[in-house]
Amino acid sequence: MNFLEERIVKDGVIKAGNVLKVDSFLNHQMDIELIDRMGAEFKRRFAGKPVNKILTIEASGIGIACLVARHFGVPVVFAKKSQSINIDGDVYTAEVESFTHGNRNTVLVSKKYLNPEDHILIIDDFLANGCALQGLISIIKQAGAEVEGIGIAVEKGFQSGGKIIRNLGYQLESLAIVEGMDAEAGTIQFRPQDE
Ligand code: 5GP
Repeated sequence: MNFLEERIVKDGVIKAGNVLKVDSFLNHQMDIELIDRMGAEFKRRFAGKPVNKILTIEASGIGIACLVARHFGVPVVFAKKSQSINIDGDVYTAEVESFTHGNRNTVLVSKKYLNPEDHILIIDDFLANGCALQGLISIIKQAGAEVEGIGIAVEKGFQSGGKIIRNLGYQLESLAIVEGMDAEAGTIQFRPQDE
């Protein structure tokens, strides 16, 4: 097990409905040393990629993206969630269905902060069905920018998102890939990864 998998086993809470809560170290209280280590690992996995910007989605992706950005020495842009249909002006938008909340949001990024010269690393906390990632990819395409890769903290490998995104040809790196989890027994299995 790697350092993130070990922490999930120690402090993650498995909820009914295929939800893994990581509130004590990632999503509510944040363990900065752990997330900094995740940043270093993403830097290693995307070595050689000409990343000049990181894109994530509010809210829980932001903190992780900021620490990853320190390792790349680049800025972070986060897509804002808006339920308003009165989105004015110069923004790229995409529709994203939330796995955890079950609602739909329009996410938007100002055209000022993404442009055709950008080489983007997408960062997010979880990958489930891939809706959030597809929204971010759509926004990057609208801007004419390049997706250099996608870094995820926890992929739920038993849901469809990872397969969809890899089949689209993107380099998707997930630090922990959950193959299965059982809320009643409190057990979790990870997909073995090359170290
Ligand atoms: P997707 O769009 O891939 O279906 O879901 C990704 C988003 O849903 C992530 O940004 C994350 O916020 C949330 N999410 C999905 N599954 C889980 C989960 O098991 N636990 C937590 N904490 N968030 C999740």
